[in-house]
Amino acid sequence: MLTDSHAHLADERILPVAEQVVERAAQAGVTTIVSIATGPDDWEADLALAERFPGVYATCGIHPHTATMASEDAFARMRERLAHPRVVAVGETGLDYHYDFSPRDVQRDSFARHLQLSRETGKPVIVHARTADEDLRALLREAGRGTVGVLHSFSSGRALLEDALAMGWYASFSGMVTFKNYDGADFVRMVPADRILVETDTPYLAPVPHRGKTNEPAFVAHVAGRCAELRGEDPAELAARTTENARRFYALDPHPVDQARTISREREM
Ligand SMILES: [Zn+2]
Repeated sequence: MLTDSHAHLADERILPVAEQVVERAAQAGVTTIVSIATGPDDWEADLALAERFPGVYATCGIHPHTATMASEDAFARMRERLAHPRVVAVGETGLDYHYDFSPRDVQRDSFARHLQLSRETGKPVIVHARTADEDLRALLREAGRGTVGVLHSFSSGRALLEDALAMGWYASFSGMVTFKNYDGADFVRMVPADRILVETDTPYLAPVPHRGKTNEPAFVAHVAGRCAELRGEDPAELAARTTENARRFYALDPHPVDQARTISREREM
């Protein structure tokens, strides 16, 4: 059993074929997918997917690339949407100083407000971090108290990871761990067993042996397998543990399969 803790199912490459993508994932043992919002254009589609497929959950947030969309009105609408039980997290937010698609001060402001919203709603926060370690660390110190979050598709530096782990945060790894030039093996090993997640970041970052293709949640087994290898752990155990971690992190309902088991157990009694 596997969980893809971070996929963008509302992406235009995935949405028209979402049914087949979710079906292929299920066939590959990926029974839970968290579909991560990047901005207001995704919110409706992500929630519709979460209402349609029992193993799919939605989030609500604004990506640092489009942080200029994080208006007062957008935050008011986010707060409303986050009350929905199938909207399980705030994000994705964060800082991206590699592309600088939004001005840095706008990114910082939006990130701080997402952290505040996470604290207010009690829902965890999903953080994208790229070439912005110092500002991220500062913002976590200033505005991160009382939040639980995940550094997704982790590819930043040691100090940021250490700070986040010390705050009780999680780290998630993507298909990058399967790339030949991957240099983050130490980071994969640094994350405590109960705070590691795996993801595809669909449709981006397809893992080896699918590199170059459109990614999809069915491929998350390659990520989990490589993480297990780097940590010297049993792949099946890591698959089960990362699923357990994702269920705890996102506070997901009892799994449909577990629920069926509980129901049949109740019937027996
Ligand atoms: Zn993402």
